[in-house]
Amino acid sequence: MQEFDFASPKTLDAACQLLAQTGGRVVAGGTDVIPRLQRHMFPATTLVDISRLDALRFITTEDNEIRIGALTTYAEMLESPLLQEEAPVLLEAARTVGCPQTRYRGTLGGNIANASPAGDTLPPLLVLNAEVKLVSAAGERVLPLSEVLLGPGQTAIRPDEVLHSVAFQRLEGPYGSAFFKLGKRKGMNIAVVSVAVLMRLVADGTIAGARVAFGSVAPTAVRSKHAEAVLNGERPTAEVFERAARAALADISPISDVRSTAAYRRHASMTLLRRALETAAARAGGIL
Ligand SMILES: Cc1cc2nc3c(=O)[nH]c(=O)nc-3n(C[C@H](O)[C@H](O)[C@H](O)COP(=O)(O)OP(=O)(O)OC[C@H]3O[C@@H](n4cnc5c(N)ncnc54)[C@H](O)[C@@H]3O)c2cc1C
Repeated sequence: MQEFDFASPKTLDAACQLLAQTGGRVVAGGTDVIPRLQRHMFPATTLVDISRLDALRFITTEDNEIRIGALTTYAEMLESPLLQEEAPVLLEAARTVGCPQTRYRGTLGGNIANASPAGDTLPPLLVLNAEVKLVSAAGERVLPLSEVLLGPGQTAIRPDEVLHSVAFQRLEGPYGSAFFKLGKRKGMNIAVVSVAVLMRLVADGTIAGARVAFGSVAPTAVRSKHAEAVLNGERPTAEVFERAARAALADISPISDVRSTAAYRRHASMTLLRRALETAAARAGGIL
């Protein structure tokens, strides 16, 4: 195990001061940090433990905004009636993370800051147009999630910043959504491909506000603007979904690795997207 100094501040201000003074890094649930320490792969010798900062553990709604504190665990999200009502696509993803121990310990903020291309909450948060609030001794800033994710393990979060919370606007009208994840096995499953979809059907039965995002098929989780452009204004038919799936290939750049080949990931992305679109359309009240 890599050696490290450990600090457990009682307030967010104190955590920010410590990060600024020591050049340390945040640890929240530790489900990513501890395995990296064991492999001598963590880029800091001081850990600033924020797990006691209950001010970062909340799920709230104000005006039209849903806000989730960075320390909220998957288990806490899964128990939230508000998220069940307002963001079922996020809970579909949370349900698939790791095992019960991971879901009780791992946090939403940690999943974002870890920036794995396979991070399960990232495609749902991208289709929800989520924004991330970052806090440091120098002040606060808010960035769209799409600008936070820069590459595998790389984010726009500065080392002296704490991810405070994630927020997105409540969706107006009868939206349908779906999250699908393909892994190598059923449990404890890192995604080979994942996809999140949101869509609304307007009075004439055509699709509006379609949003599509993939995980594990690019350096970061990505939105598929090409698929979205095909879907909007069309009726939810198998032919349209097939065209959207083909168009999505322009937005992904899968690699071959221990979990899969690039070719299989491309094929699976199309299949998963078609299924997610069918499910989201049915949930939005459309008849295929
Ligand atoms: C057995 C196992 C199974 C897993 N299965 C899955 C899975 O199926 N899907 C999936 O997506 N992930 C999976 N993971 C990965 C991990 O559980 C998640 O990414 C989790 O959400 C990380 O949260 P954490 O609080 O434990 O983060 P930590 O390990 O504490 O931190 C992770 C990274 O984020 C930074 N960080 C954490 N919180 C903040 C913050 N508030 N502000 C700034 N930086 C911060 C840390 O410095 C570190 O770089 C698995 C992990 C394990 C060990």
